[in-house]
Amino acid sequence: MSTAAPLLLTPGPLTTSARTRQAMLVDWGSWDDRFNQLTASLCEQLLAIINGAATHHCVPLQGSGTFAVEAAIGTLVPRDSKVLVLINGAYGKRLAKICEVLGRPFSTFETAEDQPTTAADVDRLLRADGDISHIALIHCETSTGILNPLPEIAEVVERHGKRLIIDAMSSFGALPIDAQEVPFDALIAASGKCLEGVPGMGFVFARKASLAAAAGNSHSLAMDLFDQHTYRMKTGQWRFTPPTHVVAALHEALLQYHEEGGLPARHARYAANCQALMEEMAKLGLRSFLPAAIQAPIIATFHAPKDPRYQFKAFYERVKAKGYILYPGKLTQVETFRVGCIGHVTPTQMREAVAVVGEVLREMEVLEI
Ligand SMILES: *Cc1c(COP(=O)(O)O)cnc(C)c1O
Repeated sequence: MSTAAPLLLTPGPLTTSARTRQAMLVDWGSWDDRFNQLTASLCEQLLAIINGAATHHCVPLQGSGTFAVEAAIGTLVPRDSKVLVLINGAYGKRLAKICEVLGRPFSTFETAEDQPTTAADVDRLLRADGDISHIALIHCETSTGILNPLPEIAEVVERHGKRLIIDAMSSFGALPIDAQEVPFDALIAASGKCLEGVPGMGFVFARKASLAAAAGNSHSLAMDLFDQHTYRMKTGQWRFTPPTHVVAALHEALLQYHEEGGLPARHARYAANCQALMEEMAKLGLRSFLPAAIQAPIIATFHAPKDPRYQFKAFYERVKAKGYILYPGKLTQVETFRVGCIGHVTPTQMREAVAVVGEVLREMEVLEI
């Protein structure tokens, strides 16, 4: 039985370093120049990760990732414009729900949860419906871990002269995206995912020209990214109370990100985490839901053991008591559970976690070995 806090193997909130948590032990005033410099430096560094400084603004927003997605759609999609939402999981469905709640006209294209949307699908859909102006896509669909082919889809969207909105929440910082090669109007991510900050703020990379043209689109005061950006450019401050401790922690997390070797190193560690996880789970006879070719090294979904003695809740509690937090499945048709590969964790820790999974399944008499 572990006495330390359990390691989070979840895709946000996730395990952070002690140094990142330490950075939250200071109270900042929102008028403090040093705090506003922290925000400016943060935005500059975030833009650099996608090579976006020439073409995009970084607009930070208080709240969880969904707040930033909703703000991006509400701000950048004019009220009478039509959105095509590409769906292969729960986060894609959430994009459609946002369009519905905001009253933006939209249509959906849904593939199975183990089926990426293809560029050919998008090409066909755009040919068939000339009213569509914006396409909304999940890069890595965290409900399974499936990777959608972003560069190919972006190329088709660009060729049709349409605009792309990307929810890259669970991939930004770990999977390469170059704003000069992959055209988009908005790309959305948050503090508490692959950058290994704490949750509490999102950010939207918005194409400069699109943001400049977005005054008055938003239905909401607090979620208006045009106002949020304009205010910060004018005053250097966040509009409304900033999540000061979250900003400080993210700034510290970014220092560590660069020390580790930036995106290539982060990607390599997560890929090694995922590889270790897959190998050890296979040894226990636990099958991965996705084929390797479409599996992003972010989160993995496993079929639950088909034994009546297996129950996720009991399994979860026993694994937690031994020091690891797993994640429930999010599929409606098949019983699964998920394990995150992201966060301040190493391949060795992933192997240790799977050893615990094996121990627990033997205790529950689900595994005989
Ligand atoms: C985490 C995540 C979000 C945001 O979820 P919140 O609970 O609002 O933080 C959105 N999209 C994807 C793909 C995610 O992984």
